[in-house]
Amino acid sequence: MINKIRLAIRNDLEASAETRQFGSGWISGFLALVASIAGLLLLLSQRYPQWFSMKELALIHNQTIFSFVIQSILVIAFLLALINLVLRRNKILGFSAITLVFASLLIGQLIDPQEQYIANAYALGFDWFVLNLLLTGLLFIPLEKLFGRLTDQPLFRSEWREDLFYFLISSVLVQIISFLSLSPSMFILETTGSWSGFRLLVAEQPLVLQVLEIMLLTDFVQYWFHRLFHEIPFLWRFHAVHHSAQKMDWLAGSRMHIVEIVGLRGLTIIPMFVLGFNQQALSIYILLVYLNATFVHANLRFNVEWLKPFIVTPRFHHWHHGIEKEAINVNYSIHFPWLDKLFGTYYMPPHQWPKGYGIGGHPVPNGYWKQFLYPFQKKKKTK
Ligand SMILES: [Zn+2]
Ligand SMILES: [Zn+2]
Repeated sequence: MINKIRLAIRNDLEASAETRQFGSGWISGFLALVASIAGLLLLLSQRYPQWFSMKELALIHNQTIFSFVIQSILVIAFLLALINLVLRRNKILGFSAITLVFASLLIGQLIDPQEQYIANAYALGFDWFVLNLLLTGLLFIPLEKLFGRLTDQPLFRSEWREDLFYFLISSVLVQIISFLSLSPSMFILETTGSWSGFRLLVAEQPLVLQVLEIMLLTDFVQYWFHRLFHEIPFLWRFHAVHHSAQKMDWLAGSRMHIVEIVGLRGLTIIPMFVLGFNQQALSIYILLVYLNATFVHANLRFNVEWLKPFIVTPRFHHWHHGIEKEAINVNYSIHFPWLDKLFGTYYMPPHQWPKGYGIGGHPVPNGYWKQFLYPFQKKKKTK
């Protein structure tokens, strides 16, 4: 039964372009479903913050406005679902959204809000998942619609469910991933108290300089980490998961094995945390790298030619994912393409894009859990 509903939802989300047009009830159905899921997850994070809330988001939970926001999202979901039911012959999206709205109302009635926010460093970040998806989705979906390279690639392209699941997992596990990633830096910080004079000098530099230095240092570490993950066969099996994506868009970059996420972040953030950069510089960089990771995978034309030697653009990173032979083991950097020039791995044929994406022969299986196990299984040659 549940499988049938899931399949019906999927089929309608993936409906052909002609049946998704404005006025067909598809947009309202899709938005109703998103809003109802967002409302339900935010409600759960509000009612059980000790289980489902990222402690850094305590601020939004402590405001009475949060209840109002959740209620508004649910009302909007309900109204959009009604529009879907009126306009569309296939009413699965509207019905599903209304079911979730009623489930939320029931939970809201049965469980009282906590008197006080209860922080828990091991809780799942339901609230962060919603916020993260809305922030990236609201920014990049319209950008891809307006400036998309492949204008006929739909939002619900093939493999969207896998990539969304990766996005979900890395968002809800945000606290544990951050804890693990920060551990090496924290260890170094604790054992290097004598560097405090040096750290003071670093923190006193102009802000722009600090951000540029962080970009350079993290990209240098990232470049070599990334290159090793391509060149050492055992590590490649983890990274092959990221490269198994055959479609590129704002969601595709989420596909990354959790072992690689923790390893990559744990190493790349060492220079930013242990050298003494001030908090403002760190915050700016974190925002920048957060947007950049989505940007470089996005289905976006980016035609500012003169910038291309200096910063990584979607085309540069798309070549890193290209299916062509020439695209194997090139373009490792994520900020500065000249690092690849320096180390001999730069590949950027003028004005061209790869013909396709993924790994030749597509050795990585589909689905999150199969991909999770893939690096640990007996190997067949993948590249
Ligand atoms: Zn790679
Ligand atoms: Zn990538």
